[in-house]
Amino acid sequence: MTKGFLLVISGPSGSGKGTVCRRLLERNKDLIFSISATTRKARRGEIDGVNYFFVDEKTFDKMAADGELLEYALVHGNKYGTPKKFVLDQVNKGEIVILEIDVQGALQVKELFDEAVFVFLLPPSMKELKNRILKRGTESKEDIDIRLSNAIDELKLAYKYDYVVMNDDVDVAVENIEAIIKAEKLRVNRSQNILDNIINV
Ligand code: 5GP
Repeated sequence: MTKGFLLVISGPSGSGKGTVCRRLLERNKDLIFSISATTRKARRGEIDGVNYFFVDEKTFDKMAADGELLEYALVHGNKYGTPKKFVLDQVNKGEIVILEIDVQGALQVKELFDEAVFVFLLPPSMKELKNRILKRGTESKEDIDIRLSNAIDELKLAYKYDYVVMNDDVDVAVENIEAIIKAEKLRVNRSQNILDNIINV
């Protein structure tokens, strides 16, 4: 069995992370998605425990204080965090766990896990990024402005990631992430026991 690992996927709001992750999970039933906790209000159609664990500030702060979150950050004015126990249990079982988190959270994960894999999803252009957020129609005018100005800061941190994937065409972006996963599974440090078994026969 190869070792499990964390696959961190970040990208500015409107880069299409949600769609890409959904398609990736539909096509690869063995991948596990980490459901984050957030203080953001649920959007229409979002389900508690499926898209996010929607919690109030007090609950979130307690989770953070009790060390239940692997990382957490304030993103676009709301708190978001990754539940630690679930993620670590899955990785220890040899699974690949997808963390769809922002750059601040990704950098915290990088400090903790040098074997995690970091993918930054790029929009084709800033113009297209704005179009996508407007088309989605789920944010207020004020929220859209915050997300656009944050996008520039996030893009500047892309060089800290291992891979950049352009999301011009969702299918191509998903295929590229699948290629990354395939290659990462073959790393020597993830296949140590396979090597040992062959050598020791
Ligand atoms: P949205 O509100 O559009 O669902 O997500 C806003 C941002 O929060 C996105 O950039 C998303 O990747 C990020 N995010 C979602 N979950 C987490 C998390 O657990 N931790 C961190 N640091 N960011 C998250």
